[in-house]
Amino acid sequence: MTDESNSPMTDTDSTTTGPLLPEDITTDSPFTLPGFFDALAEGRLVAARCTECDTHLLPPRPACYGCGSRAVTVSEQPRTGEVRSYTSVNRPPSAFEHLAPITIAVVELDSSARLTGRVDAPLADVTIGDRVELQVRDPEEAGIDPDFDLSYEEEWPVHVFELV
Ligand SMILES: [Zn+2]
Repeated sequence: MTDESNSPMTDTDSTTTGPLLPEDITTDSPFTLPGFFDALAEGRLVAARCTECDTHLLPPRPACYGCGSRAVTVSEQPRTGEVRSYTSVNRPPSAFEHLAPITIAVVELDSSARLTGRVDAPLADVTIGDRVELQVRDPEEAGIDPDFDLSYEEEWPVHVFELV
């Protein structure tokens, strides 16, 4: 474990900016999935944005998958947005089996970053353009059996969109 006091990545506020050195990509960095879910558990949805080509990276990545640049900045995102596409999943992963069929949507947040997630509504109640708000639930509250999670995922919150 590195000395966190020397790492710029201990701070997950909106000023976290790349390029990052490999040693900066610690598990509490918002540029990793554990760091992303830690922030989400605290109620903060964070995304990275490439300062070269403006691509949103959600969850954040230390390098842009649009142009390869490492000049990326993490910032907190709005929790509201619009359904851009959606579908029904009849055979979801085991942890969500009891909720089947589930509705999955690609949501464009009000920042224009896109996030895929479950919509807490039947397929027939969802339409492209619907306004939704992200809710963050702990796995137990969401009815997820921890036995289905990988050990490092057990504490990760579950995100779900609700129609507003
Ligand atoms: Zn880019």
